[in-house]
Amino acid sequence: MPVSADMKTNLIGLDRAALEAFFAGLGEKPYRARQLLQWIHQRGVTDFALMTDLSRALRERLEAVAEVRPPRPIREQVSADGTVKWLLSESGGSAIETVFIPEETRGTLCISSQVGCMLNCTFCSTATQGFKRNLDAGEISGQVWYAVQALADPRLGARRVTNVVFMGMGEPLLNLNAVKPALSLLRDDLAYGLASRRVTISTAGVVPGIEDLAAGEEFALAVSLHAPNDELRERLVPLNRKYPLADLMAACHRYVRARQRRSITFEYTMIDGVNDQPVQARGLVRLLNGLPCKINLIPFNPFPGTPFSPSSDAAIYEFQKITRAAGIITTVRKTRGDDIDAACGQLVGKLLSPSERRRLVQEQLARQVVMA
Ligand code: SAH
Repeated sequence: MPVSADMKTNLIGLDRAALEAFFAGLGEKPYRARQLLQWIHQRGVTDFALMTDLSRALRERLEAVAEVRPPRPIREQVSADGTVKWLLSESGGSAIETVFIPEETRGTLCISSQVGCMLNCTFCSTATQGFKRNLDAGEISGQVWYAVQALADPRLGARRVTNVVFMGMGEPLLNLNAVKPALSLLRDDLAYGLASRRVTISTAGVVPGIEDLAAGEEFALAVSLHAPNDELRERLVPLNRKYPLADLMAACHRYVRARQRRSITFEYTMIDGVNDQPVQARGLVRLLNGLPCKINLIPFNPFPGTPFSPSSDAAIYEFQKITRAAGIITTVRKTRGDDIDAACGQLVGKLLSPSERRRLVQEQLARQVVMA
């Protein structure tokens, strides 16, 4: 009896160790894993029949038990500034968003780790759609696979992905089981070969997850701080009730001490009259005292229904002046992809209603076509 598609192992999310185990299960040598990594992630090949350095018998065997199934595009939008946003379909009718941000010297891919989010940060539009489920490793690395293939098209400027940031939908440190193998693929020279500093994991402050990262391979860590004291932070990031600033800062200090990790980037969304005053800038300087770090100020991106508005340029400038004077490198994030709602906190797929999205995903699955 033929194996049905959903019983097949999707090799796109298996890192080298998992692929080796998979091939061991088939009675094959470990070097098969290395061949497959290159075929899938470097050459973008999903059809086993084209993997010409595998014997015909092995190719047939793979076809029977495995598949290479990337996410399928539902919609692609290209912003006037070159930012590209894809709505990608995942199994079970879910849709997620992946954004590519081209800059002169680099190309940053912003990927999602969950469908929706459970943290309910009050200034984030992803929160408004609630939490649906964790993505699996293949759905996470599949976003990179898809973007790399799509961006090779001259229509999108034949761009390369040089950096990956986990700043799309979801909280990566609440889905480490899937995020870790995806990280391993991002780093593997036979897959995406990205240096550790080119992969950034952004967290709202999940302390056990930071501890877990500190114990493993090095990646760049970004912590979404947004406030210098517990009272204000609780209003913006409810997770702060579970992991208050004292615990979060202690974890950050341990993180940089563990095997001399570089520094941590603190993201700070600038919300008019809420957290953008000089008194908060001075509080932030005190909070970060002694910790190797940078601050990235993100002008708040408004979305329908939000009570908040972005800080004025003058407020951002004053804030930055104070933290810089204290010796902390402080950058202001440029807002990109505004016209396609690709900016931070807008990854909600509001271009489609949930029922429209479900219908499109179903159609896509039925037709199995790739959009032009
Ligand atoms: N859950 C992770 C990653 C996703 S959010 C985290 O919290 O870090 C990526 C960054 O965008 C976070 O710093 C987040 O707080 C910020 N952000 C969310 N909504 C925003 C908005 N509307 N305007 C500006 N920044 C926002």
